[in-house]
Amino acid sequence: MDKVNILGVNVDTVTIDEAADAIIGFFDENKLHSVFTPNSEIIMAAYRDKGFADILNRSELLTADGIGVVYASKILNKPLRERAAGYDIACRVLEKIDGTEHKLFLFGGKPGVAETARDNLIRMYPRLNIAGCRHGYFAPEDDAQIVDEINASGADIIFVCLGAPKQEKWIDEHRGKLGVRVAMGIGGSLDVFAGTAERAPDFFCNHGLEWLYRLYKEPKRIGRMMDLPKFAITVFLKGKRYK
Ligand code: UDP
Repeated sequence: MDKVNILGVNVDTVTIDEAADAIIGFFDENKLHSVFTPNSEIIMAAYRDKGFADILNRSELLTADGIGVVYASKILNKPLRERAAGYDIACRVLEKIDGTEHKLFLFGGKPGVAETARDNLIRMYPRLNIAGCRHGYFAPEDDAQIVDEINASGADIIFVCLGAPKQEKWIDEHRGKLGVRVAMGIGGSLDVFAGTAERAPDFFCNHGLEWLYRLYKEPKRIGRMMDLPKFAITVFLKGKRYK
């Protein structure tokens, strides 16, 4: 797959549909494939932390979640065709695995969120096979038991929704022990499936203003969002060095 190097992070230049097709292809290979969807805040975090950049670059599929990353690719003269957000890719994958033998595990969110997401998903995709659910608040010493629970469920795909960078680090750390073939780190998606969080209305998404809607809904994100202008300036000043 073609990639664009954005401040040291190798983002795949795929559309939502191409990403979903690639994920379905991953089921044919007997190994774990991690799928991450960095936005500009995550790329800035990776720019500051080489270990985190390595984790992202080790993944089998890395898509651009956020209009900032799409703009950055244009500045670097390798334009991404569209924003490929984790939630949208997940929806496309769910359509494709509905009615198949594939088994999904939902991991993350506050207690009860994964179960509500499961109930809603079953209503939307009645032939979906959901093998298990688990909330995302745990101590490091619980890791082994969580991995056992996921493996015992027989799931071959997992949505890991612990927020960034926790989900990327958790998947990477347990790569060798998890029996699933696809592990997608998709942030707040379980909250959206559960109805405990809303996606920004289309107007905001279509005009590259999803960040503004999220800021309005969660003003405490302001600190993290200061990375957006820093990201734009860094790509302008230093981006070409990475091409
Ligand atoms: N979360 C979790 N465990 C934690 C911290 C967060 O399961 O230790 C969940 C949280 O409940 C929320 C999601 O991770 O459902 C983070 O969502 P957010 O939209 O903040 O994701 P991000 O923008 O960081 O990808």
